Amino acid sequence: MQKFCLECGEKIFGRVDKKFCSDYCRNAYHNSRNKDRKNLVRNINNLLRKNYRILEEFNPNEKTTISKTKLLARGFNFEYFTSIYTTKNGKVYYFLYDQGYLPLDNGIYALVKRN
Ligand SMILES: [Zn+2]
Repeated sequence: MQKFCLECGEKIFGRVDKKFCSDYCRNAYHNSRNKDRKNLVRNINNLLRKNYRILEEFNPNEKTTISKTKLLARGFNFEYFTSIYTTKNGKVYYFLYDQGYLPLDNGIYALVKRN
């Protein structure tokens, strides 16, 4: 069966288990996959860092409340956090490192700092 290079699509000649037409294409393929993975990690780290800075900024005294609107306006992204803490009575805190938030009623959030 004719095989084609995973990087450039050229026909491959030689061993049946070859996936690339050349060393150049094999390196190019793996480099670009590594770059994609690094970008993915970097982008998520940036989102986590941004969320963390926003919580720090709004919660300088380790305990406060704030509206969801204000968090969103500042660019907070509720999909990214580093851990979840559930209390005995079922309240769920979301943490960015040592800064946490707890959804209260009516679009209000409690901000806390974990010591
Ligand atoms: Zn190739």
